[in-house]
Amino acid sequence: MSDAQAPEKRRAPVKEGKESKKESKEGDERHEAIYRAVSDAIVEQRLKPGARLREDALADVFGISRTGIRKILQRLALEQLVTLTPRRGASVTRPTADEAKDVFDARQLIECGLMPDVARRMGEKEAAELREMARQERQALRSGQQSVAIRLSADFHVRLAQLSGNATLAEFVERLCSRSSLILAVYGHRGHLGCESHDHDDLIGYLEAGNGERAKAFMSRHLKAIEASLSMVEEEESAPDLQQIFGG
Ligand SMILES: [Zn+2]
Repeated sequence: MSDAQAPEKRRAPVKEGKESKKESKEGDERHEAIYRAVSDAIVEQRLKPGARLREDALADVFGISRTGIRKILQRLALEQLVTLTPRRGASVTRPTADEAKDVFDARQLIECGLMPDVARRMGEKEAAELREMARQERQALRSGQQSVAIRLSADFHVRLAQLSGNATLAEFVERLCSRSSLILAVYGHRGHLGCESHDHDDLIGYLEAGNGERAKAFMSRHLKAIEASLSMVEEEESAPDLQQIFGG
């Protein structure tokens, strides 16, 4: 059987009508910025799971074409942050209880598995960087900046994974952390971030001491504690105010 699929075009520059190359490059950068803005709003829970993402409303807010918005939504759908439904359109993914369990199982396998490598590669510079991240996270929590704290907490886990030296697994962890933010938004207690912030400091201590096995066991308990804090209760859907979230 021959592979009749069209070649991958994702990386090719977007050509629209008489647009010059310069404008096209600016268009790509604009798209990337919008993708980040929407993705951040989902991870930081400013856009709630189940929230509808209307193409025309987003096109208005960001001042680009609906075609451009559609591409961004398709990219977010690949990352499972957005769900595309025929006729209904796009909405922020509402993870099911089963998916939540899968995501945390995957995090257990990958993140715990990476700890010995991270411990081996942990130097003073890396430890200082992680401590600074943990400090900012605590500060955000103390000052009530919930969405900032959620983002910083996910960043901490992603940075840890990157320090293992395995870029492929670090990328998985990044996606799993984004999906975890959605899971926490649906099943977490209000005002509960997921990560106990002092946990991160303890973890850095084990890694800095080169104790990979201890760090692995600690990460396992840390992730189990987050999972155990979830309560599987359905929430009502709501229509987000896109103008308020993304407008000036
Ligand atoms: Zn954590």
